[in-house]
Amino acid sequence: MSLVDTRTPDPKRLISGATGDWEIIIGLEVHAQVTSNSKLFSGASTHFGNAANSNVSLVDAAMPGMLPVINQECVAQAVRTGLGLKAQINNRSVFDRKNYFYPDLPQGYQISQFKDPIVGEGKIIISVGPDRQGQFEDIEIGIERLHLEQDAGKSMHDQHPSMSYVDLNRSGVALMEIVSKPDMRSADEAKAYVTKLRSILRYLGTCDGNMDEGSMRADVNVSVRKPGGEFGTRCEIKNVNSIRFVGQAIESEARRQIAIIEDGGTIDQETRLFDPAKGETRSMRSKEDAHDYRYFPDPDLLPLEFDDAFVESLKADLPELPDDKKARFVADMGLSVYDASILVSEKAIADYFEEVARGRDGKMAANWVINDLLGALNKSGKAIEETPVSPAQLGAIIDMIKDGTISGKIAKDLFEIIWEEGGDPADVVEKRGMKQVTDTGAIEKAVDEVIAANPDQVAKAQAKPALAGWFVGQVMKATGGKANPKAVQDLVKAKLGIVDE
Ligand code: ADP
Ligand code: MG
Repeated sequence: MSLVDTRTPDPKRLISGATGDWEIIIGLEVHAQVTSNSKLFSGASTHFGNAANSNVSLVDAAMPGMLPVINQECVAQAVRTGLGLKAQINNRSVFDRKNYFYPDLPQGYQISQFKDPIVGEGKIIISVGPDRQGQFEDIEIGIERLHLEQDAGKSMHDQHPSMSYVDLNRSGVALMEIVSKPDMRSADEAKAYVTKLRSILRYLGTCDGNMDEGSMRADVNVSVRKPGGEFGTRCEIKNVNSIRFVGQAIESEARRQIAIIEDGGTIDQETRLFDPAKGETRSMRSKEDAHDYRYFPDPDLLPLEFDDAFVESLKADLPELPDDKKARFVADMGLSVYDASILVSEKAIADYFEEVARGRDGKMAANWVINDLLGALNKSGKAIEETPVSPAQLGAIIDMIKDGTISGKIAKDLFEIIWEEGGDPADVVEKRGMKQVTDTGAIEKAVDEVIAANPDQVAKAQAKPALAGWFVGQVMKATGGKANPKAVQDLVKAKLGIVDE
């Protein structure tokens, strides 16, 4: 790949060493397991968590004479992903054999794509921030390619004191390898990239993105250089399996490289592993014993070809993706970019929000979803899918604020009750007497009582009208927060003889 530097060094992202500032250069290769019922070249199940070696066909076990047959759904998933990455779709691509020996690779080679991948150049817009001014910065990260390949099996060394076992359930499962350009310049950008990529894959339904089940893992390429200089030698940190670890691996690897160079040494291009317990990377193999994979086109498979109509039909069925959704929330619903970003971060959150906002004030719905619902979910460690308050229930609460049935303050209590106990919000308000008091007679009585009990405050407020707020507070307290605040305010002013200037 030709390395083109698309960015000018940004002082904010430099890290300082003993000899001055350094810039980190990062490129990611993400392996994403394709969501499909069966494997890339066989009909065996891809279901996660089944008993070892129960999802294995003769093809996956590489029995002699077995022939691979391409799974059309996996091809469709790769094309959908390419479209979601605004990438070049190649109507003709080639499957190659990547030859190496590994006990969990029964074929002795992996079927992958080398020179002619199914998807070419594309891009992902990441958003980093907020900075001290609360601003987000959008950055375009180039995608080099996406290709399809088989996953390997898994060696198990902890099942027997003197033997290793192998589980071939994963063997032959379809992976998409998504290779970025070396366009990232900080650990935060790399984390934002993986987060955004995962979100796009989940919106598309092409990979479930569950990193803890191994459905998505990243090889992290890191090098350092003096700002704006030549690209340095990179190290590749293999199989990082959480977004947090991606960040930690980059930080520690960059520090390691800077220390070596500043000590007068040079970086050896090598493959490294990240040790989360130590928070550092260690060498796995050097480029000297790097593999020569002897790629060649797999003679068992014809080149993969499809027509434009296939691509067009997939394009027509694509869901709205996070960037478009965000733009629509901002343009049509008047949300801030910040709020819209939070709401589109997960498809399930966006869906929830849209259901609440349908036919209601979008900003108000956004505030409730972000502050109250997401706040409560966060606090209780629940995912949006486990929310005890449904969109219909939250919508009903908002409707009652809008039509004056309850005050905004009471609505917060009501939300908590529905969260804890469930039920129909309107019924709960009725049964618990939570309705806002708009009856001026009752409010007037409360105002009179507070005024009568506090002659000193009356004198002060008459001298300094801003102090009238104290009375409003007292009356709200006396009515259990149920009085209509506007009515209270008007009455307090009238009774104290305060005229608005
Ligand atoms: P290979 O095929 O040997 O793995 P590639 O050139 O295809 O190498 O690059 C693999 C990944 O490494 C890509 O994501 C790319 O962006 C990244 N990369 C390449 N050069 C550098 C560099 N100097 N520093 C950081 N990342 C790099
Ligand atoms: Mg590579």
